[in-house]
Amino acid sequence: MVLSRRKGININILEKKLLRWYDTYQRTLPWRAVPGYAPNPYHVWLSEIMLQQTTVATVKDYFSRFVTRWPRIEDLAEATLDEVFHAWQGLGYYSRARNLYKCAQVLVRDFKGILPQDEQTLLTLPGVGPYTAAAIAAIAYDQPTVPVDGNIVRVFARLLALHTPLPAIKQEIQAHVKQMIPSQRSGDFAQSLMDLGATICRPRKPSCETCPLQTICQGYALGIAAQLPYPAPKGAKPHRYGIAFWVENSTQEILLEKRPSKGLLAGLIGLPTTLWREQPWDLDSNEAISYAPKGVKTWEQVPITVRHTFTHFHLELRIAKGRTNTPQNGLWSSLENLKTHALPTVMKKVIREAIDSSHLYLPK
Ligand code: SF4
Repeated sequence: MVLSRRKGININILEKKLLRWYDTYQRTLPWRAVPGYAPNPYHVWLSEIMLQQTTVATVKDYFSRFVTRWPRIEDLAEATLDEVFHAWQGLGYYSRARNLYKCAQVLVRDFKGILPQDEQTLLTLPGVGPYTAAAIAAIAYDQPTVPVDGNIVRVFARLLALHTPLPAIKQEIQAHVKQMIPSQRSGDFAQSLMDLGATICRPRKPSCETCPLQTICQGYALGIAAQLPYPAPKGAKPHRYGIAFWVENSTQEILLEKRPSKGLLAGLIGLPTTLWREQPWDLDSNEAISYAPKGVKTWEQVPITVRHTFTHFHLELRIAKGRTNTPQNGLWSSLENLKTHALPTVMKKVIREAIDSSHLYLPK
């Protein structure tokens, strides 16, 4: 079969070259089965969820901690969401942790704690999108499918010398990949592409001299490999603004609140804040104060601004401080205990910068 008649890359040759290379140079990863052993579908699923938007180096420790603490899907399903959030702290994108937990419960309830093999059924599970479904089906069960992630997009953009910029190129590659389902060892084929993209066909400096695909690579032949795929035209990220409320009581505890169950950082603990919106807030306005905890007579502006960048926007948070002993909906935490809560990175930053500023009521 020919992958693309226009470009003329033969899939059988591609498959043979990649698998031969993979048999010698595959990466050793904690979630990957050693040659000759069947993969553990739980490990494949967990690692694929953790690896979304996170590097392999970061995920390794988290993965090991998770499977030591929750060795089976049933164990994970029996944990509490707060325990899962806590173990996830630092990996970011907490909706992944929430869906992971929800998915473990669905698997136990409806699938006897076993991940289904079929891509379509996998797609019905919480937090499992097209890429993850294909990755689990191929890697855990050798189903004939190819997951298309950033690494694989890059490898094919170069192999086929495709000029379409990101993100549109992804669809073009999906269409190519549909014609090239491997005839055998689908899991190894997918992982060989991932490994090639991570170790040889790297984003900035591909090592074409040592690449097993060099003789069939159109991008290399044209001398444009390193520039591909072409980046998306740059658009500025929007800015959003908010106020974080630092409230102390007379025993120098700090008020924390659970964020709403929907939206960014849903269900996580942090300082109470206003909405994060595109116009800056005026602390003296009724609108800003309507978001503030009750019972504080005077709010004072702390003269610092904390900046944090999410995937889709830059956030600027100013801090307002106040004191009250009025009972609140949230929970009071001593400074020492703050680190025991599942705080997202942005909240850790706000708390750290507030304390470092020495502008709080806390004793210095
Ligand atoms: Fe990537 Fe170079 Fe190999 Fe082509 S030859 S697949 S550009 S590393």
